[in-house]
Order: sequence, then C-alpha cells, then structure tokens
Amino acid sequence: MRGALALVYPPRCLLCGGLVESDHGLCGPCWRDTPFLGGLCCDLCAAPLPGHSQQAEICDSCRTEGRPWAHGSAALLYRDNGRKLVLMLKHGDRHDIARPAAVWMARRLQGRVPKDALVVPVPLHLRRHLRRHYNQSALLGVALSRLLGLQHVPDALLRRRATPSLDGKGRDARFATLEGAIIADPRNRVPLKGRNVLLVDDVMTSGATLSAASLACKEAGAAQVVVSVLARVAKDT
Ligand SMILES: [Zn+2]
Ligand SMILES: [Zn+2]
Repeated sequence: MRGALALVYPPRCLLCGGLVESDHGLCGPCWRDTPFLGGLCCDLCAAPLPGHSQQAEICDSCRTEGRPWAHGSAALLYRDNGRKLVLMLKHGDRHDIARPAAVWMARRLQGRVPKDALVVPVPLHLRRHLRRHYNQSALLGVALSRLLGLQHVPDALLRRRATPSLDGKGRDARFATLEGAIIADPRNRVPLKGRNVLLVDDVMTSGATLSAASLACKEAGAAQVVVSVLARVAKDT
C-alpha cells in the first residue's frame, strides 16, 4: 500500500516541494539550510551551549531561575528554516510537518522519556483554537505519542483565559502574563496523578508557557515532567 501510494504521491521535501528519496522529510539542500540542534544544549531549556561535555549541562539562567520540569529538548533553532517550518505547521495548515517533526524531536529526547509517560500538548485558548481549527502542539503530540508508543492526552490541560500575544515581551512580563493561565482540565478522564508527563509544544521562547503548563501538571499530581519542543528561540537570534 505504501509502495503504491509512493508511486502516486512521491515523497516531497516539506520546504521546497522537491522530490526526496525518503518519506516525509527534507531534501539535501533544505536539510543543510535548516538549523537542527545537534551539539551541546542546556539539559533543561535546550538553549545551545558552547563547547562539549560528556555530562548534562545547565545554562546560567536555568541554574538561577530553575525550571519546573526535569529535562527539556528541542529539535531546531527558531530561525531561518526552523522558523519557517514552525509557521507552516502553526498557520499554514501543513499538518504533514507533524510526523517528520516528531521524528526529529524524538531523536533529541534520546530516551529521556519515562516508558509510561502521558503525552500532553500545551493547550490553546478555546477562542484561538476555534479560529485556527487545530492546535499545532496537539498535532506534534499525536505524532510523538505514536512514534514513542505512549498515550496522548490532548485534553489534559486547559487555558483558563486568553493570554495576549507575548511577542516583544521580556522574560518577567511573559512569566507574569502566564501565571495561573493554564490548569489541569477537570473533565479530562486520564488522571495525571502519579503519572509522568511528556509536555509538547511547538516553540520555547522564555519557557513561561511551558512553566505554567508544567506547574498545572504538577498541581494535578504528575510525578516527573519532561519537555519536548520543535524549536527553541535562542537568545542571540
Ligand atoms: Zn527542499
Ligand atoms: Zn537552560
């Protein structure tokens, strides 16, 4: 079936539409121009760090401020093609990006996800969800849960109020805006109590949204939270 489909719809590069050999991915030139994270990154916020290390390293800001999750990773830097892929997934109805994106995200997680973890996407506010028709984080959540053989719980969290755009806001303002904005959805039928959680989002900027979501999981009794995002906004970009 797959072979027959491939004859009718040969796999194409997600970015340029050129034919590619493998199913769902990027062609050689687009791959080379995409800022995949591969080197040393902060073990909590996935920010790239200079140098090499055999052990997990934590960046200065995570060391100072702390993070309410145990481990975090990102597949791409949020710039150039990395930014383009996120925007295509988020606003361009390009659901086909979710599956290869999940493969890249899973690669960076490097087995750091507990076997029984529930996959929980960061929620959109209902109004934004209705306008956009889909939650890009849930698309990533579905793909990642299939890939890792984990249960996806798309309605575990709820955005209690619509938060204004965080664009252009500094770190403290972002955290203040998000505080208490996300809660565990009381209607969710898969209890988080005592469970490990793999929290999924498309982009991490300051980490304020992921902090609010992590804290909501913890308040609902979740044990350990691990974070996976498609793209990380690096401080110097
Ligand atoms: Zn291409
Ligand atoms: Zn960090």
